[in-house]
Amino acid sequence: MNEENAPLSRFRFQRMLETLEKKEGRGTELITVYIPPGKQVSEVMSDLRSEWGTAGNIKSKTTKKNVQDALTKVMERLKLFRKIPENGLVLFAGAVASDQLGVGDMETYVVIPPEPISIYYYRCEHRFMLEPLWELLRTEDTYGILVMDSKDATFALLKGQRADIVREITSGVPGKHRAGGQSSRRFERLREMQLNEYFTRIGKYTTEIFLDVPYLKGVIVGGPGPTKEDFVKGKYLHYELKDKVLTVVDTGYTGIEGVKEVVDRSRDFLRNVRFYEERRVVQEFLRHIGHDTGLAVYGEREVIRALQSVNIRVLILSEGVRRVLVALKCRECSSTETQIVDLDDLESFEQSLKDKRCTKCGTGFYDVEKREDLIEALVGMAEEADAEIEMISSQTEEGEMLKSFGGIAGILRYRQFQ
Ligand SMILES: [Zn+2]
Repeated sequence: MNEENAPLSRFRFQRMLETLEKKEGRGTELITVYIPPGKQVSEVMSDLRSEWGTAGNIKSKTTKKNVQDALTKVMERLKLFRKIPENGLVLFAGAVASDQLGVGDMETYVVIPPEPISIYYYRCEHRFMLEPLWELLRTEDTYGILVMDSKDATFALLKGQRADIVREITSGVPGKHRAGGQSSRRFERLREMQLNEYFTRIGKYTTEIFLDVPYLKGVIVGGPGPTKEDFVKGKYLHYELKDKVLTVVDTGYTGIEGVKEVVDRSRDFLRNVRFYEERRVVQEFLRHIGHDTGLAVYGEREVIRALQSVNIRVLILSEGVRRVLVALKCRECSSTETQIVDLDDLESFEQSLKDKRCTKCGTGFYDVEKREDLIEALVGMAEEADAEIEMISSQTEEGEMLKSFGGIAGILRYRQFQ
């Protein structure tokens, strides 16, 4: 993802999809348009105009009006783009059903995908079509695998749990022992030349196979013996791929067996590469707890207090936190307070306000002034306080441990005096 803090933008993208997923139309009247990069705006406009015409055949008067209004909204938004962005564009519009009886609100959303999309389509359904965007989030990192010795080389792509063999080549280089009658120097020179030619071929295939793979996170080189090291050290690899060589592992075999060995031996390694940064941060936090340095803080209220006194250096947030910061205001005395509630309990919490009197004046009832996702609220405060923000997944042991601290923690700049 493009933004500096990739885990944070990923988290925000996921939350946005969750919000859109909940929207429903009364009828089949929510519009989704996916536009890939490179498409002409004028061409999309003309397709949408023709959909607008087709919508004229819809029998229900309200649905017809809603669909045509939504299409108009989409076209208005699209007009603001002179060119489709390089990752493409997704537009959503429609009359979203609300709890109140009567007309729904016409809502419009413009989404620029975090990775390029390749589909072009228009849908009018009961809900927004989000599957292709969810798919982007599920995209798993890909790794290139090269297993080689002086006899043969195998190229594979590892995606998630799956390794696909893409190509196998043989070297044609003779073994180290010359046949009788040949001069040993001549034999060595010849072998050297053939090896060089073989390495050059491998280099060419790695470029062909690995260089343009989207989301290629790295290359792992394996094989028995020292040949693979000679290859990696030489100048046979494209410089971009050379930078991506993560590790070189010894295997007993080449070919498919060798690829399997590389995959088995790299599992833990790859996991650690991917989650290295988040594990490091949680470990640092735990170290402060363990050594009682006074620099660790956890719990939502404590963290908010530390953020407000500009004393947090690193804000650590678990992706699993689903809480809402609710700002309340008394109708009588205008005093304010905040409450933090689980997203799932928000509705019942707001119901319960009907029976709750202001804690200050004791007579007034509360109005909800503002609801904000707790994580977004904390991120906003952290940006104000110039703190680093670390989003932590639940996919590591450290991530699980953070949950036992409520999923919200921080490392302080200096010790707080109580
Ligand atoms: Zn009051």
